Amino acid sequence: MLAAVCHATGEALRIEEVRLRPPGPGEVQVEVHSVAICHSDIGYLDGIWASQRPAVYGHEAAGRITALGAGVTGLAPGDAVVVTMIRSCGQCRPCRTGKPFLCAAPHDRCDGRLSLPDGTPVEQGLSTAAFAESCVVHASQVARVDPVEQLMTSTRSPSSCPIFTASMASAIQSCTVASPMAGPERPWPARRV
Ligand SMILES: [Zn+2]
Ligand SMILES: [Zn+2]
Repeated sequence: MLAAVCHATGEALRIEEVRLRPPGPGEVQVEVHSVAICHSDIGYLDGIWASQRPAVYGHEAAGRITALGAGVTGLAPGDAVVVTMIRSCGQCRPCRTGKPFLCAAPHDRCDGRLSLPDGTPVEQGLSTAAFAESCVVHASQVARVDPVEQLMTSTRSPSSCPIFTASMASAIQSCTVASPMAGPERPWPARRV
């Protein structure tokens, strides 16, 4: 498949062929229909945060599930979903106490799910790597969108980031979240959570 690969800070992303392994236990594969560029992605591209290279970033995606790994329930191929970078194991203390966004389970972003054709490992940037035709993520990183047709394909991908941002904020204190979807032709205005 094709992906936008970052090889070095300051260099343009290269659209090139990468290998994506099939989903393992607890994972899903999502065909990416749209993906936003968040400032977090730019931070990694600029080298503000540590990352191994080559890497594929992108963590605000929307698309359809194309494959399920073993043990995944409640999702099916064809489901329309948004994808976020938040992984939740469901077992650790934060996950069991209502703070899945603080999941303490380790995750190796260079576990071999992505690689260049010559076998060079590619980092799964922000645990998602959605600047690509497809991504393989933990099932906890997707949320089914129903009915998806009410949301424009071009605008639903950014909704994944504000939604979990609002989730985190609501666990800490009340705040106002301005969704990038707000606007004359966009259905979700800024709201207090
Ligand atoms: Zn984001
Ligand atoms: Zn956890």
